[in-house]
Amino acid sequence: MLGAMQDWDLRVTRIIDHAAREHAGREIVTRWADGSETRTNWAEVRRDALKMTQALQKLGVKKGERVATMAMNHSRHLVSWYGAVGVGGVLHTINPRLFDDQLEYIANHAEDQVLLYDHAFAPIVERMKPRWNTIKHYICYDNGEFEDWIGAEDGNTEWATGDERDPCMLCYTSGTTGNPKGVLYEHRSTMLHAITSLQPSIFDFDATAVMLPVVPMFHAAAWGLPWGGAAAGVKFVFSAVNDAAVLCELMNREKVTHSAGVPTVWLATFQHMDATGITLPTLRHAIIGGSAAPRFMIERLMKAGVNVAHAWGMTETSPIGTTGAKTFDWADLGFEAQVDIKQMQGRVPFGVELRTVDLGDPSVVLPRDGKTSGALQVRGPWVIKRYFKAEADTTDAEQWFDTGDVAILHPDGTLQLTDRTKDVIKSGGEWISSVELENAAVGHPAVAEAAAIGIYHPKWDERPILVVVKKKGEEVTAQEIRDHLAKSVAKWWLPDAVEFVDEIPHGATGKISKKDLRDQFRDYKLEDA
Ligand code: ADP
Repeated sequence: MLGAMQDWDLRVTRIIDHAAREHAGREIVTRWADGSETRTNWAEVRRDALKMTQALQKLGVKKGERVATMAMNHSRHLVSWYGAVGVGGVLHTINPRLFDDQLEYIANHAEDQVLLYDHAFAPIVERMKPRWNTIKHYICYDNGEFEDWIGAEDGNTEWATGDERDPCMLCYTSGTTGNPKGVLYEHRSTMLHAITSLQPSIFDFDATAVMLPVVPMFHAAAWGLPWGGAAAGVKFVFSAVNDAAVLCELMNREKVTHSAGVPTVWLATFQHMDATGITLPTLRHAIIGGSAAPRFMIERLMKAGVNVAHAWGMTETSPIGTTGAKTFDWADLGFEAQVDIKQMQGRVPFGVELRTVDLGDPSVVLPRDGKTSGALQVRGPWVIKRYFKAEADTTDAEQWFDTGDVAILHPDGTLQLTDRTKDVIKSGGEWISSVELENAAVGHPAVAEAAAIGIYHPKWDERPILVVVKKKGEEVTAQEIRDHLAKSVAKWWLPDAVEFVDEIPHGATGKISKKDLRDQFRDYKLEDA
């Protein structure tokens, strides 16, 4: 016997229908690259998305076909998210910072049919056109082109219907090894993820929220914000440029209450605030993720009265995995203890399951004892099962997905990431966490950025070295850094050498590229090696 409730398939077009009906006039503000500003609202976004579905139909886009974007954050990009899925297509957000070989690979692998792009990326598009085999139509967002294109339609149409497990979005991971891999989200997985994301410990969204997402719409589905934000009817403030002065000005003028970005974004914001004396009095919720947020960052935001959601996730998890959810005894904890908890990666919402297994033998499930570190595995309805076009599942028989992260789980479920499997440094049979060394190093006032890598050592197998970029105008010696580290890490963890460089290599999502760094230091010899 089946239950007797209604058929209401979990398709993401329902989200924009809801936003347009219940939050029609709530604004979407865009500050464009040329400094101009436009305002639209949820009702207009829906109408424009419907027009876009008609325009895509005329281009011949069929159900399941991929519609790609290469764009920063703005209202036309938002319209395209709903327009692409509205026609029954699959939205493929391309990261413009990828290298040419990766750009070639992913657009061809995705078999993109249409590409919508910012004028700022026109040089990339021109360069790549001869290498992209499947894209038939190129539409620029700027110079009136996008408006003219959808403006020829009347919006008098309906969303494509289908199964809630139809695909709706495709994101490629940047692929630190080998080719990038595609993660194919479904309507249902995206909808469940969106509903979950609204809760206080994640986005803390209701209709009073004014969200400025700094996380780009091409990175890990912008953490699902365009879906979750519409479901709650938030006001969005988009900036098509990522400049701290612009962001701070916008935040104050538009009374932004919520923002989301990787730690480097917050660093740049703090630097601008310190240099100008600007404060962000309306900000009340900051989502930080993508890489570990250093302690001083969390502390500074919390002292300013901002609730910090330090989140862990990955493209393969849609991306929300954990956030800095409060523990039941939060009110009884002192400030320092609260920061200690927020510095870890937090706890799962309902819908995500975590476990750790032995790094050498994945059949051994490790205890949640707050001490033992192992390979982190995850499962749930918005976690990947199989990469796009892959023949085999990427999970084990019980659907556990191996994250490539190394972590400790605490008895209360708190996740503490200690490293990535590829980056842990193995010294004398024991593991040294490169992440912990880096976090401790950036706590030094003269250090702008730091990265730890393992260097071959005949006796210990590997020993850590720390590569450091100094802050402008600051001086610090290797010994001073070692003394600073000694306050927070075990003596045998202290790096054998500290090397100062002008720049540390970064990958396409702005994270430190350990692979490139290891390549740079391939021939490095330790003094006692
Ligand atoms: P990429 O693999 O291209 O970097 P993702 O955005 O999918 O793209 O990266 C996911 C990875 O980022 C995670 O597996 C984890 O290693 C790291 N990460 C994400 N959030 C955090 C966090 N809060 N603290 C530490 N590491 C994080």
